Amino acid sequence: GDFAIETETLVVGAGPGGYVAAIRAAQLGQKVTIVEKGNLGGVCLNVGCIPSKALISAGHRYEMAIHSEDMGIKAENVTVDFTKVQEWKASVVKKLTGGVEGLLKGNKVEIVRGEAYFVDANTVRVMTETSAQTYKFKNAIIATGSRPIELPAFKFSKRILDSTGALNLPEIPKSLVVIGGGYIGTELGTAYANFGTKVTILEGADEILSGFEKQMSAVVKRRLKKKGVEVFTNALAKGVEEREDGVTVTFEVQGETKTVDAQYVLVTVGRRPNTDELGLEQIGVKMTERGLIEIDKQCRTSVPNIYAIGDIVPGPPLAHKASYEGKIAAEAISGHPSEMDYLAIPAVVFSDPECASVGYFEKQAKEEGIEVTTAKFPFAANGRALALNDAEGFMKLVVRKDDGVIIGAQIVGPNASDMIAELGLAIEAGMTAEDIAMTIHAHPTLGEIAMEAAEVVLGSPIHII
Ligand code: FAD
Repeated sequence: GDFAIETETLVVGAGPGGYVAAIRAAQLGQKVTIVEKGNLGGVCLNVGCIPSKALISAGHRYEMAIHSEDMGIKAENVTVDFTKVQEWKASVVKKLTGGVEGLLKGNKVEIVRGEAYFVDANTVRVMTETSAQTYKFKNAIIATGSRPIELPAFKFSKRILDSTGALNLPEIPKSLVVIGGGYIGTELGTAYANFGTKVTILEGADEILSGFEKQMSAVVKRRLKKKGVEVFTNALAKGVEEREDGVTVTFEVQGETKTVDAQYVLVTVGRRPNTDELGLEQIGVKMTERGLIEIDKQCRTSVPNIYAIGDIVPGPPLAHKASYEGKIAAEAISGHPSEMDYLAIPAVVFSDPECASVGYFEKQAKEEGIEVTTAKFPFAANGRALALNDAEGFMKLVVRKDDGVIIGAQIVGPNASDMIAELGLAIEAGMTAEDIAMTIHAHPTLGEIAMEAAEVVLGSPIHII
């Protein structure tokens, strides 16, 4: 229609940033409308965090089934019905996106399907293929997320895949080249390697998972090699020749030009914020050169009644960061003094074994002039890890020297993704190494590693010399 619909808080995008913001805003008594042009749940639920973890766990189960000989288990005729794997993965996604819809409705959030475009600082136009509708709002929260970067020499196609294409393959590829050894490339490369795909990873930097410490990525790299994955670092992908049944990727490493043949190539070299087609320039929303929206500590943009959260603002492009910012923005709109504190945002890679970090890395603390003590404890000295037959890796704690407060933690090892939560809590609550050392951790658990690492800080660990 040509009349405008009035709302109080209008959220654009229903990913983990937007849908969480909408729910919190509704909980606080705001009248909320959420606009989504694709599927509820955004990248994370539909083509990101959730389906990738589903594929990773399926691959892991298969790999464990066929490689547990050293525990005395020999399995024969283990087969994968990949169509079934994909169906199962889709069913997990469907449960969660259906859940989001239920939560939004249960909180009386109006869901509008279509693409939003800002006309002025109080108006959006929402377009579908067949209609257009104007909405007037008091406050808006933009949560439009990001999309994969396409390299000019690697235009996405049937055989040249982005992460979405790689998640949705109809069969297990015989071979796969992954360009970009960041967390998405490493996770998907690992998943397919576990299913038996011959995987080659080409990474431009001198390490894969370059956001983590070298000693951590070294553990992951060793495991990748064991799976038969070939990893080239300092490798520059130059071009690709696409055929009906596969690709030949050309790359340069140490001044030498090499080629590798594969059925598919996955290009994961970063993501670009979806801020270019929203009409934001014309309403005066300030952006960085990279197209990220500038915000204050309450996620407010340069236009005071417009907020921005998630992958379109600076900081780590992660789902839990988007959700956290969503709550802050909704609370700020209701006049609460909530503010972002970026220190304790964990980062996790679901590699094999997993990597996780929260707070400061040692190097980062030193660069900021903070005097720190560090301590490491190996999984190999933990009974539960040995009983799981998965005892590679370590935990590292970064502790402020003058008061013993924990300001950072890194883990590489099984279950690092869950174990990092305790350290996040410690940092958030300003706890000391002594607090963790004095907390009784159940035996035998991987959680004891935190207690033991904290005892290393205090100089009196029981289980290592
Ligand atoms: P998105 O989830 O991108 O959602 C934005 C939504 O806005 C989309 O649904 C889009 O359709 C909609 N939209 C865009 N423009 C408009 C418009 N004009 N009008 C209406 N709607 C619009 N993060 C983790 O923390 N852990 C992980 O394990 C993890 N794994 C990942 C694996 C992969 C393969 C990928 C690609 C990403 C992964 N991420 C992970 C990152 C995570 O998915 C993102 O950080 C997160 O989805 C960002 O949330 P968001 O709300 O900012 O945006």
